[in-house]
Amino acid sequence: MKELIYLDNGATTAVEAEAFEAMKPYFLERYGNSFGGYRFGAEAGRAVEQAREQIAALLGAGPKEIFFTSGGSESDNWALKGVARQFRSKGRHIITTQIEHPAVLNTCRSLEREGFEITRLPVSKDGFAELSALQKAVCEDTILISVMAANNEVGTIQPIAEMGAFAREQGILFHTDAVQAAGHIPIDVKAWNVDLLSGSGHKFGGPKGVGFLYMKRGIELEPLVHGGGQERGLRGGTHNVPAIAGMGKAAELSRINMEKRALYEAELRDYFINRVLEEIPGARLNGSLKKRLPGNCNFMFPGVSSESLLIMLDRKGICASAGSACASGAIEPSHVLTALGLDKEQAQSSLRFTLSHRNTKEELDFTAEQLKTIVEDLRRFSPYG
Ligand SMILES: *Cc1c(COP(=O)(O)O)cnc(C)c1O
Repeated sequence: MKELIYLDNGATTAVEAEAFEAMKPYFLERYGNSFGGYRFGAEAGRAVEQAREQIAALLGAGPKEIFFTSGGSESDNWALKGVARQFRSKGRHIITTQIEHPAVLNTCRSLEREGFEITRLPVSKDGFAELSALQKAVCEDTILISVMAANNEVGTIQPIAEMGAFAREQGILFHTDAVQAAGHIPIDVKAWNVDLLSGSGHKFGGPKGVGFLYMKRGIELEPLVHGGGQERGLRGGTHNVPAIAGMGKAAELSRINMEKRALYEAELRDYFINRVLEEIPGARLNGSLKKRLPGNCNFMFPGVSSESLLIMLDRKGICASAGSACASGAIEPSHVLTALGLDKEQAQSSLRFTLSHRNTKEELDFTAEQLKTIVEDLRRFSPYG
């Protein structure tokens, strides 16, 4: 057994070896400024443009529709604040969901303080936002709809194509936070009818601190980061060339291997889910079993605190997560699980395991066995077990 069993791929992934190789030359050898006016810089510039094509190919987009950012959070901020600022004279209403990532929810909160009105759509017990709720929420004043493609905590894949078609019909801009989806499930920006889409390198085998925003041709959001003329003047700052090259390579690997990896991960996921639900009394799966990210498992273990579970699993070398990485450590129960109808105690008895193509059945067998023992032990000493 390996010393570390990493089951927190929803928080971040290891950099793929080939992606790392693609990054290396841009540190010590081809370190020129991609924006410099000499051939040495042009080499770095070519790496940036190649990555733009690799990202575009992952999304069914054109390379000119891809803009590099510092990650998913910046892309979400740019999409929401950019639309809000540009279209505030048209309307001040934005629709999103209760289960978005904090990068969207906290941006919405900031926009509320600027005078925008936010509708946060509820979700069903199994974790889906519904088209009918969206249709009811739209009004004259609506300038933007932002619904995540796949949820980071419970892995539910949202009906983006349906919502996108509706938004298009209404003439309302549509953004999706596809940070969990990109590189894991097929994305087609045209079939999805999205105008804006956020992605992040470190969620699909690329490095941290780099991401992208897809902007449909014809849309030119005002910069969030003002600076030089990079990214056609829409996002200032010297390119992080190695990171961009690494993310591009990871996108290519994800595109080529997507089907194979998804099948493998979903098989492991279902195996693990079945074992846990069968062997641990009272264990429940959070979120739908259908339309779920291939690597996502999220369980509730009534009577056991997720914090204690995490600590005990960590002692066995197993990395899992209580909700999202951003929420763990905080005392508040997960806003996603609460939106699914779990009460505070249930939300705080829940644990997420997110698998990757690197995980093995042996790792999951070991994890299931440890989990079973730990839950039994904790329940024996629990005040409410
Ligand atoms: C991780 C994540 C983000 C933030 O991306 P960073 O690159 O870490 O800033 C945004 N949205 C979702 C759904 C995520 O999972």
